[in-house]
Amino acid sequence: MAPVTGAERDPALGPVVVPADELQARISTLGKEITADYEGRPPLLVGVLKGAFMFMSDLARAIDLPVEFDFMAVSSYGSATRTSGVVRIIKDLDLDLTDRHVIIVEDIVDSGLTLAYLRRNLAHRGPASLEVCALLLKEGLQKSDPDIRYVGFRIPPEFVVGYGLDVAERYRNLADVVRYVGS
Ligand code: 5GP
Repeated sequence: MAPVTGAERDPALGPVVVPADELQARISTLGKEITADYEGRPPLLVGVLKGAFMFMSDLARAIDLPVEFDFMAVSSYGSATRTSGVVRIIKDLDLDLTDRHVIIVEDIVDSGLTLAYLRRNLAHRGPASLEVCALLLKEGLQKSDPDIRYVGFRIPPEFVVGYGLDVAERYRNLADVVRYVGS
């Protein structure tokens, strides 16, 4: 098991699911793919706060195009570790999506409810194209095919923290994605 920086003695944390070096290597590859796919039509990255902030920052630096950024905050969990099925917009976008090539940047797709909601909501705003880049996709939990163009890692259906992901606002600054086992 790879070491978890600064968190070795936290009994709530289990094994590393995706170590930092693998995250960075995969994000570099995703950045190259997006650079090739969006040549001549620079994308607008829409980050889903708060969990995607770390991924958005690394991904954007791996894309060699003049990208623009916007952020949206939605709530689907509170501090619990299971989906409520209810998605609420806490902070809406600042930019107009009309005729823009939009990429939704998500931290993790679990049931797919949040993503389905976001996709429907943003599709109504007249973008020229709308794709999704999700760092983590939990295997086998989506009721329908989530149709995600760019996926970082497929992981088992366990609750994870780190690299932007939290439990009650903790653990977002871990460099690795780690299984959360609770106390
Ligand atoms: P979904 O709507 O796909 O069930 O859930 C998506 C949202 O739930 C994610 O954007 C994230 O905020 C949260 N979420 C889902 N799985 C996990 C997890 O394993 N760990 C953490 N920290 N949040 C998760």
